[in-house]
Amino acid sequence: MLEKVLIANRGEIALRVLRACKELGIKTVAVHSTADRDLKHVRLADEAVCIGPPPSAQSYLNVPSIISVAELTNADGIHPGYGFLSENADFAEQVEKSGFTFIGPTADTIRLMGDKVSAKQQMKLTGVPTVPGSEGALPDDPDEVIRIAREIGFPVIVKAAAGGGGRGMRVVHNEEVLLSSIQVTQSEAQAAFGSPVVYMEKFLQRPRHVEIQVLADGQGNAIHLGDRDCSLQRRHQKVIEEAPAPGIDDALRNEIGDACVRACLDMGYRGAGTFEFLFEDNAFYFIEMNTRVQVEHPVTEMISGVDIVREQLLVAGGAPLSIKQEDVSLKGHSIECRINAEDPRTFMPSPGTIKTFHAPGGHGVRVDSHVYSGYTVPPHYDSLIGKLITFADTREAALIKMRQALDELVVDGIRTNAALHRELVTDSSFMAGGVSIHYLESKLEHEH
Ligand code: ADP
Repeated sequence: MLEKVLIANRGEIALRVLRACKELGIKTVAVHSTADRDLKHVRLADEAVCIGPPPSAQSYLNVPSIISVAELTNADGIHPGYGFLSENADFAEQVEKSGFTFIGPTADTIRLMGDKVSAKQQMKLTGVPTVPGSEGALPDDPDEVIRIAREIGFPVIVKAAAGGGGRGMRVVHNEEVLLSSIQVTQSEAQAAFGSPVVYMEKFLQRPRHVEIQVLADGQGNAIHLGDRDCSLQRRHQKVIEEAPAPGIDDALRNEIGDACVRACLDMGYRGAGTFEFLFEDNAFYFIEMNTRVQVEHPVTEMISGVDIVREQLLVAGGAPLSIKQEDVSLKGHSIECRINAEDPRTFMPSPGTIKTFHAPGGHGVRVDSHVYSGYTVPPHYDSLIGKLITFADTREAALIKMRQALDELVVDGIRTNAALHRELVTDSSFMAGGVSIHYLESKLEHEH
């Protein structure tokens, strides 16, 4: 069992990890930038150390500082949260080499899944369905490239093997522009990610984003906790997530979940992870794996009753998974709205001091947020100030609770996207369930 965990993150996820540690009797070390002295988890941690100035590169991404704090405070584990260093294989390696436990998979696993070409190949090995496309990286021979594209059928999408954050990809609609588009994507990939390797796959026109949550202990046990639908997105950023994904039958959900479990066992996966899929015409197509806890993990916790962060901590401490697949029972429906400090129309960030904050509450309402009245949202980081999560027997009831929760929410002093959420939870298409990943952007284009 871990005794003291350094939380290498900020905001709501740092608080989420701190709470799970406290419940397990694990001591906590908060590291923070000079802009983050007033973060709630910094106040609640057993120890807090300032690791640098506001820019992330000098604080939350400053590996030597973080590791020295772990040494100075005698921490034994480091939780990376999401974003920042969470999917950085070199960081995971340095953490382990310095004698600490990285709360996540091994550096090798992060590397394998971080490269989209090797990740896709790994999925094929274990029978996880992938998007039809090139066998690995695209070859240099132009004739061969054209042959592959014809075989897949236009439109195709050219994607950087090292890409991430929705960058490094290009949709190609016809053969005339294929080779030039590949060249542009290669040079962009080289500039942005330091590798020109690209691959090609079929461009799915109206998919949904559906993902599978897994937990594994690296000791031969792995389970899945069902799916989440995160199709409401703007610029590849998720806005609302829910579990289970509406309209997908249990047999298909379990079939794909079992395939993800086999993939975890095959690669010796350890910790929490998410297999992301595009879902179209009732079929799943793997696009990537996130080797960390995700922002939207609470909706799965609500319907499964499993505390995902607690399991991460226990497994990292060497314990086997505390639940077996046959003990997992998913019930009810959960929805999460991401509350961002941003203008609801222009989406411009809106940092500043929150004069008044009232969190909603009541039966089936969960608020994961680090903010409070008087807290100043710094301009340097992600604009997420909290997550409203509701849980009820049915999707309709969870939506009703979300409307109520949004009505109760008060954030004065800065602008938030709560108004957009109020609109979305009464939107007829969203209420019907199963909209595609393009729905939100096209709605915004037409209505605003
Ligand atoms: P990243 O790591 O940058 O998030 P992903 O591979 O997860 O990259 O893809 C990001 C987004 O790009 C997907 O959520 C989807 O919107 C779009 N996308 C990726 N591959 C395809 C595809 N084959 N067809 C249609 N859209 C795609």
